[in-house]
Parts: sequence; C-alpha cells; structure tokens
Amino acid sequence: MTDNADIINHLRNVRRGAMFIFEAPSGTGKSTVIKELMKSDSNLKFSVSVTTRTPREGEKDGVDYFYITDEQYDEYLKQGAFYEYVDSQYGSRYGTLKSEVDSFINVGQDVVFDMDWMGLRQMKEKAPDDIVSIYMLPPSIKEVRRRLIDRQTDSIETINKRMNLLRDKMSHWNEYDYVVVNVDVAQTVETIKEIISAERMKRVRQTGLADFVKKLDDEAKGNEA
Ligand code: ADP
Repeated sequence: MTDNADIINHLRNVRRGAMFIFEAPSGTGKSTVIKELMKSDSNLKFSVSVTTRTPREGEKDGVDYFYITDEQYDEYLKQGAFYEYVDSQYGSRYGTLKSEVDSFINVGQDVVFDMDWMGLRQMKEKAPDDIVSIYMLPPSIKEVRRRLIDRQTDSIETINKRMNLLRDKMSHWNEYDYVVVNVDVAQTVETIKEIISAERMKRVRQTGLADFVKKLDDEAKGNEA
C-alpha cells in the first residue's frame, strides 16, 4: 500500500492541465499579474504563439514567439493545426499551435494565455472543457491612465489611443468565467492562485481518480464482513 502522502502527490501528477486565458483592458496590470503568477508556480507554462512577422529587437525565438515563414503558416492552416489564429490579409499572421499547448496539457501542466476575446471565442469552440477564462478590471478609469503613465512605455498619443479603446475592451467582461478587480497586485495574485487551485481539483482534470477509486473499491470489497 502506498504511503498516504504519496497518494496526494500521485493524484496531483496524474491529471489533465487547464488553459488559463487572461484578458484585461490595457493598463489594468495583466502582464504584471501574469509574471508574478508564473514566478511562483513552475507548473504554469506560458503559451508561445507563432507569427510570420520578423522579430523585434530583443525578442527571442521560442520565448516571445516562434517565428515562421508564410509557407509554414499556410501549411499549419491547411492541417487545422491552430487552436486560434489571426490571419490578417495585409499585416502579420499569428496563431496558437494545438501541438504546443497539448504537449503541456496532456502531462498535467497548465498553460497561461494572454489573449483577447476573439481568441477566447475560437479556443472555446475547439477546447471548451479545458478553458478557464479570467478577466481583470481596473479599480477606476483614472487609475488606468495613472498606471499607463507610470509604466513609461507609451507616448501620450498611444496612451490616449488605449484610453479610447477601454469601453470597447470592457464590453466583453461578461464572456469570462472569473472577474477580478486589480486593486492591489499581491491580493490579485492570491485570488487568482485560489482560482487556479480550485480548477485543478475539478473531477474532469483529475484523470488519476478512476484508478484510485477502483483500488479503494477493491479494498472495500475485501473488508466487507
Ligand atoms: P497591462 O498588461 O494590463 O497593460 P501592466 O501589467 O503593464 O498592464 O501594468 C501597467 C502599469 O501598472 C505597470 O507600471 C504596473 O507596474 C502597474 N500596476 C499593475 N498592477 C497594479 C496595481 N494593482 N496597482 C498599482 N499599479 C499596478
């Protein structure tokens, strides 16, 4: 008989991973929160998309994107190899490879996506049971502007553009499973960790349960008077 503590470990390891899809209006703190979550949980893997655009300065193949040719992209499209894709007629082309995501999910690792509502809709069609969607809201609109200014990455024109997109972005909040208002980073990270823990305990993700219950049942049978 296995040690009682080993049983918990075994069940934790034999499971199907989940796909955690995050979205928030720009300036809410989504990237900050995702980074903190990934730092503290080695079981979370970030989904790396493919793109046909050329790498920007400092970007690394396999880290920021997998950089592929138009021919490769066409081939993937033909094979139906994408969970979701954005194939702009004139601009760059992006996609999330099923094989890349499944290689994690199938061995019980969870995948984190930074993805908009259009991507979410495509993902939901292909993998409805694997998806957990989390929407983050800012505490106020004034605070969004303050955070965007404090971040010091955007010009005032870009910040204004982002501010003008807020209402449109926020209009999709009710398509998500969970909604978290990001007042304090540490608190938000804690809340999302709780969501992740609960999702990992879902029966459908605990693929080791059937065997375990079978063993319990055999043992119970042997103990009947
Ligand atoms: P997003 O990815 O949603 O556009 P970022 O993660 O880049 O947003 O955060 C925008 C700015 O706000 C960053 O400077 C970040 O440090 C800051 N920030 C993030 N979350 C909070 C928070 N809860 N309180 C205060 N500042 C925050």
